[in-house]
Amino acid sequence: MKVKVNQDNCIGCGACESICSEVFALNDDGISTVITDKFENIDKAVIKDAEESCPTSAITVEE
Ligand code: SF4
Repeated sequence: MKVKVNQDNCIGCGACESICSEVFALNDDGISTVITDKFENIDKAVIKDAEESCPTSAITVEE
């Protein structure tokens, strides 16, 4: 699985971090960052939920 945040599109709303803090965290500039590359033990549905909840479609999840 690959998870990316297009930081140019992120408006720092924090939704992804609220939904899945194991994968997403706002950096010092208030922009979301993917904080892990180990997704095996994280519920895929929660990651997808974060993707779908992003108001600017900045998150992409590839299987
Ligand atoms: S949900 Fe989207 S816009 Fe909001 S912080 Fe996450 S990546 Fe940025």
